[in-house]
Amino acid sequence: MANIKLELVNLRKEFGELIAVDDMSLACEEGETMALLGPSGCGKSTTLNMIVGLEAPTSGDILIDGQSVLAVPPGQRNVGLVFQDYAVFTHMNVRRNLEYGLRVRGMERADIDREVAKVASFLHLEHQLDYKPLELGASELQRVAIGRTLVTNPEILLLDEPLSNLEAEMRNQMRRELRRIQAETGQTIIYVTHDQIEALSLAHRIAVMDFGQLKQYDTAHNVYHYPDNTFVGSFLGNPPMNFVRGQFGRDAGRPIVAQDGSRIPVPEASTGGLSDGAEVIVGMRPETMVLAEAGDPAGFTASVIAVEPQGPETVLTVRIGESNLKLIVETGTQADEGSDITIRPDADLLALFDSASGVRLKG
Ligand code: ATP
Repeated sequence: MANIKLELVNLRKEFGELIAVDDMSLACEEGETMALLGPSGCGKSTTLNMIVGLEAPTSGDILIDGQSVLAVPPGQRNVGLVFQDYAVFTHMNVRRNLEYGLRVRGMERADIDREVAKVASFLHLEHQLDYKPLELGASELQRVAIGRTLVTNPEILLLDEPLSNLEAEMRNQMRRELRRIQAETGQTIIYVTHDQIEALSLAHRIAVMDFGQLKQYDTAHNVYHYPDNTFVGSFLGNPPMNFVRGQFGRDAGRPIVAQDGSRIPVPEASTGGLSDGAEVIVGMRPETMVLAEAGDPAGFTASVIAVEPQGPETVLTVRIGESNLKLIVETGTQADEGSDITIRPDADLLALFDSASGVRLKG
């Protein structure tokens, strides 16, 4: 296992009555990109500000390379924060912006020039060095903001919603750029976003937060495919994970979840410890269900209420009992509005959650 670069230990921040960050613990490995993902107000920026030292935690600890940094003032933590609104100095040209952090550290002129040339070349800013920020495009400006921080060689690069001011095409380009920076520098990056696509496409690990609580911390693959709770299942995915509430039971010995006369067969492996009649929630992602032959023992019947082709894929809305589900199928799949179809969920990816807590039941 690689070195742990950053560790949050029961990190907590209260603002009066409000718990902005609720005893959060996680570890981020050196060279990883970790995304803090969650809806507005869930505590992402507060967490970032505590790592940088702009906010003092109410309790808990922050370790960098195994050492607590709580007593280290913000300027000396050697973490580089790139703000959402790219805080660049508009009166200085790009070169002066890039060298600023090195000048305040008192670096020798020749060393400054070498480091600035290196970062300018790496970020493809060599031809912009004499321009003022207002003469630059949004993506160039963003690269200057990142370059200003990167040039100081921080232990951790912290990015707060860095792409939120960019248009879609530019955002894709910057995402590729950030992936390249990460891959080529091996820089540890902490990335704050409320955009699941950004988190899924950039991060090795994602910390999903809600109301100050860490709802899941795992690889991008696992938070998407194996959500720990219904919040994570519904926050990630577009359309999000489908949920069907029902009672656990057995039909000729096979485990099922029944709702209002309908029944969904569920894999034996997901049902450990459940007793008959237990209230559960079945979670199924739209793209993990396929149409099957009528009578398929691993399938269930639903009626098609809407068919929405979207290029190569079609979104089907189907009804089972009192629940509407969305499926993503190949366009051209035979499913007419008003007809009944048989749907087989992927047994490995179907999840059962406790109906009261929303927590995933582990088989
Ligand atoms: P956004 O995506 O909107 O920036 P966020 O996930 O970054 O949201 P935070 O900015 O960390 O969330 O805020 C978490 C909670 O703490 C919110 O309810 C916010 O109103 C509150 N909060 C943040 N800073 C302060 C403060 N200085 N004083 C009081 N409450 C604050």
